[in-house]
Amino acid sequence: MKAEHYVGGVFRSDGPAFPLIAPVDGTELGAVPEATREVVDDAVAAARAALKGPWGAMAAEERAAALRRVADGVQARFEEFVDAEVADTGRPRAFAETVDVPRAVGNFRAYADLLYGRPERAYTTRVPGWSSGTGEALNYTVRRPLGVVAVVSPWNLPLLLSTWKIAPALACGNAVVAKPSEETPSTATLLARVMDDAGLPPGVFNLVHGHGPGAAGEFLTGHPGVDAIAFTGESATGAAIMRNAADHVTPVSFELGGKNPALVFADADLDAAVDGTVRSCFTHSGQICLCTERVYVERPVFEEFVSRLGERARALDGYGPMISAGHRDKVLSYLRLAREEGATVVAGGGAPEFGDARDGGFHVQPTVLTGLPETARAVREEIFGPVCHVAPFDTEDEALALANDSPYGLAATVWTRDLSRAHRVAPRVETGIVWVNCWNLRDLRTPFGGVKASGIGREGGEYSLDFFSEPVNVCVQI
Ligand code: NAD
Repeated sequence: MKAEHYVGGVFRSDGPAFPLIAPVDGTELGAVPEATREVVDDAVAAARAALKGPWGAMAAEERAAALRRVADGVQARFEEFVDAEVADTGRPRAFAETVDVPRAVGNFRAYADLLYGRPERAYTTRVPGWSSGTGEALNYTVRRPLGVVAVVSPWNLPLLLSTWKIAPALACGNAVVAKPSEETPSTATLLARVMDDAGLPPGVFNLVHGHGPGAAGEFLTGHPGVDAIAFTGESATGAAIMRNAADHVTPVSFELGGKNPALVFADADLDAAVDGTVRSCFTHSGQICLCTERVYVERPVFEEFVSRLGERARALDGYGPMISAGHRDKVLSYLRLAREEGATVVAGGGAPEFGDARDGGFHVQPTVLTGLPETARAVREEIFGPVCHVAPFDTEDEALALANDSPYGLAATVWTRDLSRAHRVAPRVETGIVWVNCWNLRDLRTPFGGVKASGIGREGGEYSLDFFSEPVNVCVQI
């Protein structure tokens, strides 16, 4: 798979190249062109021009049809997308087959469908005396696209997360300039091929590759020609993008980091709670923003839970690597730090040795820790690897206080069979998403996003359409 920029309907590879490394065994997969400021300028200009062309005049139904053609195009190249995602990320093939690629298809279909169900608001009012005019009026609100939208996405769910923004942005009639992570450029390049084949007018979708700071990401998000930024990634990167966008008062939608808690009450179905926590901590080796890193367990079942979770973690195999050597080293440095801070390592705790080609890759063992104080860095900071810390609690209030004592607030999971407790606890957890007796069960129409340092705004269904369009009120005196 050759990574290429896609600008104004033309594929190009100008800019210095950097190597793409396979995380599964450390081999070189190919070269990626680094977009210069000129390439980014061209992409933004092409997007701007596209808004003045047929795309800008297109009825919502035609845009929906275009999105469906893109969905069909991804489906038609299903295996190619799976191959590319597996090569770039090292994830198990089944994950790409059941999550990444079907969800990308679903993202385009979901927003195409949603466009039809969207009512425009219209109502007549008698204008009250405090306004400068008087009399009856018909007010109606129309939605206008924002213009040129920058989509900057991370490496952990490359296709899924970028299309989660690209689809609603296009649905609303915007033009997009996307910059995928430098670690995972391949499915984005394939998506540009699909857009091209689907006959989207040139410039409606543009793709630039490259790094973030001082490079393509920064050029794009600080660009005066960009009307909105949709970003998923680390909270510190979100802060840098916000500073960069401040000069142009560019609106942002941010999905950022997390340090997600799970609360396991003694009345929970323990089999389900252990199963669910294995999934929530170790799916994609903990490299999903929704993954649990802090587990709080009510004291009567604490010992049993820890022992069962540890056993399950030790038995996991076939897990994928960290995305890069740098990220592997970061995760291992937290494991060292946790030991220094007094952690008991119940399972894992280091890099595995396979005795085969995988030893050239960037794997970390599924790891369960206990015994750390809540002030420990491994308990407070996002590790983004297959690592969780388990601590006991005695009361519901204490469980909530522990869960909420975090700068982050993305997602939480509550395990209990007590219906009243579930409804009492869930709304008091300070996160944007709370799952009860499940994890990562998603309805694409629901609000998705975080509070505190975990984000700004919500994505999903109407929430995305709201961000990617501007309501304009028209008041007609009658
Ligand atoms: P990252 O912040 O390092 O990079 C994300 C993207 O931003 C990349 O495309 C990168 O090139 C770009 N970038 C980096 N610095 C930039 C800058 N100064 N200006 C403009 N662009 C810049 O994140 P990552 O390591 O790729 O992804 C992991 C992080 O993403 C974790 O913190 C994880 O929690 C978070 N995440 C959040 C969600 C969510 O929905 N809340 C989903 C997935 C991942």
